[in-house]
This record gives sequence, C-alpha cells and structure tokens, in this order.
Amino acid sequence: MTAYEAVIGLETHIQLNTLTKIFCACKADSWEDAPNSNICPVCTGLPGVLPVLNERVVEKAVLLAEAMHAEVQPVSYFDRKNYFYPDLPKGYQISQFDMPIALGGSLELPIPAAADPQGKGYVRTVRIHKLHIEEDAGKTKNDGRERQVDFNRCGVPLVEMVTEPDLRTADEAAQYLIRLRQLLRWIGISEADMEKGNLRCDANVSIRPAGATYLNEKTEIKNVNSIDSVREAIRKEIERQTHEVEEGHAIKAWTLEWDQDAGVLRKMRSKETEADYRYFREPDLLPLHISAEWKAAILAGFPERPLERRARFMREYSLPEYDADILTLERALSEYFEAAVKAYGGDPKKVSNWLMNDVLRMVNEQGLNPAEMRLTPQHLAELLKLVDAGTINITTGKALLQLVQDSGKAPAQLVEEQGLAQVRDDAAIRAVCQKIIADSPNEVAAYRGGKETLMGWFVGQVMREMKGKADAKLAKDVLAGLLK
Ligand code: ADP
Ligand code: ZN
Ligand code: MG
Repeated sequence: MTAYEAVIGLETHIQLNTLTKIFCACKADSWEDAPNSNICPVCTGLPGVLPVLNERVVEKAVLLAEAMHAEVQPVSYFDRKNYFYPDLPKGYQISQFDMPIALGGSLELPIPAAADPQGKGYVRTVRIHKLHIEEDAGKTKNDGRERQVDFNRCGVPLVEMVTEPDLRTADEAAQYLIRLRQLLRWIGISEADMEKGNLRCDANVSIRPAGATYLNEKTEIKNVNSIDSVREAIRKEIERQTHEVEEGHAIKAWTLEWDQDAGVLRKMRSKETEADYRYFREPDLLPLHISAEWKAAILAGFPERPLERRARFMREYSLPEYDADILTLERALSEYFEAAVKAYGGDPKKVSNWLMNDVLRMVNEQGLNPAEMRLTPQHLAELLKLVDAGTINITTGKALLQLVQDSGKAPAQLVEEQGLAQVRDDAAIRAVCQKIIADSPNEVAAYRGGKETLMGWFVGQVMREMKGKADAKLAKDVLAGLLK
C-alpha cells in the first residue's frame, strides 16, 4: 500500500490594530459595536468618494514583513478584486494582486516532541510566498429566519499572508498559527485572536505519495475559527483525501467549509479561479512608494524576534527548551526575565524557576501584566539575594512576592518592617524544638523506633511555632541531635 504525505499551505488574514480603517476615518475595531454603526460613504462605496491610504497600515505591514524576513517592495500597487456578494457594497475589494507590498520570507518552526511522530521534535521551515494589504468586507449573519448585513468591517485593514505549500502535518499547521500569533502580538500589530476573527486562516490541503516532489490537486478549507479547529479540520481532510485516492477517485479542487458544531467539512462550491475576479489596477490610488528612509524609520527599534530570543535564552543562560519557551511566550515576560537576571547576577535558572512557578502563577491568577507589576524585576532580584544570603527562608521569600506586589515596597524594607528575617538563633530554635519533643511523645517514640521520615513533620512543627521564620536547616540539625 502506498504511504501518503500531506501538503499544506496556509493563507492567513491578519487584522491590523490601527485606530481607523484603511481608506477612511471610521473606527477600525468595532467588535463590540452595534451593526452598521462604524460606516461612512467611503467604506460603503457611495459614488463620488475617494479612498485615502492610512499610513499606519503601511507601517504595520512593513513591521510584519521584517518579522517574517520578507522583502519589502519599493513600489507596490493596489488593485480591484471584483465580485458580487451582499457583504461587499462597493462590488469590489481594494487589494493588491501582482505587485504586493512584500515578497518571500520564512518562519522556522520548532515542532515540539509531542507533535513529532518520532517523538523527538524538529524544525520545519515554512517559506512565505507573499504579503499584501487589503480591505476587509462586511459580514452577513443568518439567524435562520432573516439575513442581516453588517458593514462595520468594510474597510478594516488586513494583511493577507500566503505560505508556500511547505507544511506536512495538521500539527505543523497549528504550530505555524501559534508562532504567527506570538509574533504578531510581539511586534504589536494585531490582537491575533482567531476566536474574534482578527486572525483568520484558510488551509489548502493535498496529498501525494510520501517523498514525491510534485503537487496534486488541492482543496481549500474555510471557516475555521480557532487553532484547534484548523488542526482538526486538516486532519479530517487528509483522511478524506487518502480514502478517496485509495478508492481510486480523483481529488477535485473544492472549497470546503468547516462546520464547528458538527465537526465535519462540507463542500461550499467548486473553486473560483483568479480570472473570475477580473482584477485591475485601482484607479483611485497612487502606487505605494516605500523609500529606504521611510522603511528605516519604521524599523528603528525593531525587537529581537521571539524564536530568536528563545534560542538565545537557551544559549546564553543555559535554560532548558521548556523554560525558554515559556519565558518568551510574551515579550513583556521575556523582558522581565532578562531584567531580573541582570539585577540578580546569580544563576539564571533560579530566576526562571521563581518566575515560571511563583510569579507567573500570580500573574495568571490576578490577571497582571508583567510590564506593569509593582513587583519589579529588581524587586525579584533583591528578594532572591535575601534568600541566598539566608536573611529570609524560601517560605518567607514566596510570601514576600505577594507582599511586594500589594505594597510596592522593596523586599528588604518589608523584611525589616514586618520582622520577617529568618531566625537563626541557635538557642531560640533549640527551645522550640525541646517544647515540641516534649509535647509529642508518640511521634518521638515512632521516630526513635525507625520512622525517620517523621523528621519532616518535626521541622514543620518548628516552622509553625515560629511562624515560618525558622532556619529550616538549623532546625533539622538541632532536632536530629535532640532525637538521637
Ligand atoms: P490558488 O490557485 O488557490 O490561488 P495558490 O497557488 O495561490 O493557489 O496558493 C494558495 C495557497 O495554497 C498557498 O498557501 C499555497 O502554498 C497552497 N497550495 C498551492 N498548491 C498546493 C497544493 N497542491 N497542495 C496544498 N497546498 C497548496
Ligand atoms: Zn468609513
Ligand atoms: Mg492564489
């Protein structure tokens, strides 16, 4: 039996987070607004109006091109894509066709072991075919009885980015979207939330005998509204095509629609070809010129990319891949980590542990933004130094995180004010140990009878008695001596 491999290419629509739409002054984000409340003659295509290009759209598209290592074109053009649909009042969409704003580029995807059939993990390089700017169309809603059109989204700025057919599994496609979302948020050009529709994806899928280099007929999957649905829909489509081919049937170039509730793909239509759109140059807009100076100004201060930072964290701080991955999920967290490492000067892995386990828990439970926390990276570093010096023990250190966050005071000051310093006074600890031994004849007998695991219980009692401030190691030594 022939083994097949899948060939997948993704077309993503990225909604840019500009204040206003691409060719008019209407508010761009109307996610929470009433239908048809953010529209004007320009975005609804009334006769006699002229579009004016929003510069912020160009800037954000250039940032994305840079993030993807794509080649920004010094001159690009706008074109009309003509089609008839109720959500498109103008009868055409202003887009870019044969001369888009950027060409080429790539994203190197680290595929985790969990998504590798061999269980090891690998890197998949996905080449980008092109990026172009376009305006969104409106929305039609069908509540079963009547059809409603909402033009709020007409003219919302999008970048469409198309990959080469370089992805090979449904998991790789999901990883591509996960990394793209991370990147978009990192450079601050889109909310990139698939559920909200500001990151959308059509998946093109075909299969071929494993190892072949030619391309077979593909289908296109639309209407997938989350990364999980993309993964599931592609999996189902690969299965369907494999079954068809094994039955001796040909794959037809269908457009399929994912039905989320039923978890099935349905045939929408046979695919249109580009000729159906009768593209022609947009006569109302000038060619888009991006000078070297403008591009340089847009890219001034361009950040290290997330996957590069992830690799550098592993290299420079000897962090495990797992840590580097979590610490670079969000740019603010990665910056927090590095600032703390710098201020601390000790083992970066220790900073990582405290951040991933304790600080992140606070962040998640309390909905904090690492960049705006009162517990600053410098505070965290100071706190770790207090633990290292033995001034406070780990239990106190962990409690101190929240105290600093609540008060905004420095750790050393709080230790001073609230008397949190660790008790390392031999006599004081000895007195408490003696009292506990006297009060616990059963445990003492058990311990002396060989149940040495009870030591943890004894230390715990001392800690409780001393409100968590005892030097645990010292307490253990004293107890061991007394219990001999
Ligand atoms: P279309 O004819 O649908 O316009 P394009 O060549 O523009 O096709 O490609 C659209 C998307 O489909 C791209 O992401 C591309 O990588 C992907 N693609 C093209 N051919 C195939 C194929 N045979 N199998 C899977 N994906 C493909
Ligand atoms: Zn408008
Ligand atoms: Mg195409």
